[in-house]
Amino acid sequence: MSLIVQKFGGSSVADAEGIKRVAQRVVDTQAAGHHVVVVVSAMGDSTDELLDLAAQVSPASSDAREMDMLLSAGERISMALLAMAIHGIGASAQSFTGSQAGMITDAIHGKARIIDVSPHRIRTAIEKGDIAIVAGFQGMSRDSNDITTLGRGGSDTTAVALAAALDADVCEIYTDVDGVYTADPRVVPSAQKIDTISSEEMLEMAASGAKILHLRCVEYARRFGVPIHVRSSFSHNEGTWVLPSPDDQIKIQEGEPLEQPIISGVAHDRSEAKVTVVGVPDIPGKAAEIFGIVAGTNTNIDMIVQNVSTHGSGRTDISFTLPIVDGAEALAALGEAQDRVGFESVEYNETIGKLSLIGAGMRSNPGVSYRFFRALSDAGVNIDMISTSEIRISVVTGADLLDTAVRAVHAAFELDGDITATVYAGTGR
Ligand code: ASP
Ligand code: MG
Repeated sequence: MSLIVQKFGGSSVADAEGIKRVAQRVVDTQAAGHHVVVVVSAMGDSTDELLDLAAQVSPASSDAREMDMLLSAGERISMALLAMAIHGIGASAQSFTGSQAGMITDAIHGKARIIDVSPHRIRTAIEKGDIAIVAGFQGMSRDSNDITTLGRGGSDTTAVALAAALDADVCEIYTDVDGVYTADPRVVPSAQKIDTISSEEMLEMAASGAKILHLRCVEYARRFGVPIHVRSSFSHNEGTWVLPSPDDQIKIQEGEPLEQPIISGVAHDRSEAKVTVVGVPDIPGKAAEIFGIVAGTNTNIDMIVQNVSTHGSGRTDISFTLPIVDGAEALAALGEAQDRVGFESVEYNETIGKLSLIGAGMRSNPGVSYRFFRALSDAGVNIDMISTSEIRISVVTGADLLDTAVRAVHAAFELDGDITATVYAGTGR
């Protein structure tokens, strides 16, 4: 008997109707002869609503432990309601919190990392014929015995981690669009669904802000060889397969042209801010000091640019991007260290956007960057920062021009399709 892990996102379980629809789908999967483990997110935008509430009772919502207690409640609501809905149609199901499901994490609240998954209770439940439902996005620290959360969007990672630990045949991620698109269909309605994508490209897409899959879930799936099928809970259409290794790619595409498209898609991100450390002494060790300070706040840094020092000044500027949510803490830490490091000032800008073009085929295709920058220039978009990898080019632009830039680049690489992508639900919040 095969084992399927199905994860349903917030927009799929946004209301009673949605929960009943998901219940039916899960029961149908079991009736087709599979063991089913379900991972759920919090209903609709309820995680954001809980965050808003926290900000209202205490402006400095820095109470990380209590924040995790609060936010983990969102997923507990959906798991219990889904179990009830399944009982309502005559099947048996049990819900489990992250800690009951054996999701053991480190003790870093708000962005805990999984260190062990021991899903004994889940195994027992499915072996006796129950559908096991697990609250996504949460775990427990063995050191502190406290409830932790994995970071926004973390339910995808819960699902893949469970799929790996249970040796599932596939991890299905159900969402409000039919799969992974060549761009966010909310911004580019003519974006096309991608049938299969390598985990390498999917990693770059997720790291570049494509919100369809949590970055860590893709890393996890790649490491443990879990195939992911991203699809809609509102249709029965085949979605996008994210394949852990290139061999799988060839297997699936048998009978089809094997040549990879040059470009897989355009991703964008509005969740980052730009920090510029101005007037850094241009001597060895200063960059290490600065990034050491930022790392001390547990912030992930993305793009980094250091300017050539102005002739004779002996000083240079270093700019980098980081998540807006980490901005205040990083600025405070830098401010404290200003005299010691000896830089002149720090500038901070939240009104930026990042656009990335991703494709494994660009490795061997000269002219991609020319076409990319030509498209941006034709659209009148000014570029603030540039970074590249083997299979990605990213730029930072002003936030106001980001959508225009995404559409221009998508069109320039002939990614536009003839049919309008369906967005079934969700506010995109
Ligand atoms: N409910 C959490 C969030 O909104 C986790 C998730 O949806 O994956 O970020
Ligand atoms: Mg999500």
